[in-house]
Amino acid sequence: MKNYKKMMAMSKSELEDALKELQGTKSTYPDGDTFAMCYSIMPMTRITKSLTFKCSKCMEYDQMTFYTYNEDENIITNYKQLAKEYTKLGYDAKIQHFCDSCIDESNGKLSTLMFLFKTKGMNDYTYTELDTDSYSDDEYQIVLKFLQGRFSYDELNKTLRYAYSSNELNDIIERITGIKLPIGQSND
Ligand SMILES: [Zn+2]
Repeated sequence: MKNYKKMMAMSKSELEDALKELQGTKSTYPDGDTFAMCYSIMPMTRITKSLTFKCSKCMEYDQMTFYTYNEDENIITNYKQLAKEYTKLGYDAKIQHFCDSCIDESNGKLSTLMFLFKTKGMNDYTYTELDTDSYSDDEYQIVLKFLQGRFSYDELNKTLRYAYSSNELNDIIERITGIKLPIGQSND
C-alpha cells in the first residue's frame, strides 16, 4: 500500500497514469458480493424537508425538497463538506445548485445539484449530477479513495457495502473526474 498521507493533488496526466495502474490490477471480489454490515434496529422515520437556495447561475432563489431522517439535515451543506474533502487533497471541487429555469435552458447539461471537479491540466470542470432525493456520496467516496492513492480495485472495494465490478469502478472514476483514457490504452 502506498503512502498517500503527504500526497499532492495529481494533475490530469498523473490521474491518467493512476487510472492505467488501477486498470492493470485484478478485482478478486466477486461482482456484487455483499459484505457483512450492521443494520440499525432503531425505527427511523423518514421526513421530507424543503430547502430554499440561491441558483449558482442566475442568483434567483428556488426551492428543493429531499428526504432525510434528521430534522437538522441540510443536503447542500452535506455535499459542500464532501467537496471540501476533495479540496483538502488539493483538487478544485465545488457544489453548485441550479433553479428550474436555468436547468430548462441548459439542454440537459444542468440539474438541481451538481458536483464540479477540476485539477491541474484541465481547462473545464467536469459536472456530475448529485442525488437530490437524499444525501448519497458512495461514488464520490470511491473517487476520494482513488485520489488518495488507492490504485487497485480491491482497495477501492474494501469497506463498501457491496463489491463493484472493475468496469463500474472505472466508469465512476471517469465520470466524476472527467479522465478518459485514449482508446487502446485502457484494459490492455
Ligand atoms: Zn437560475
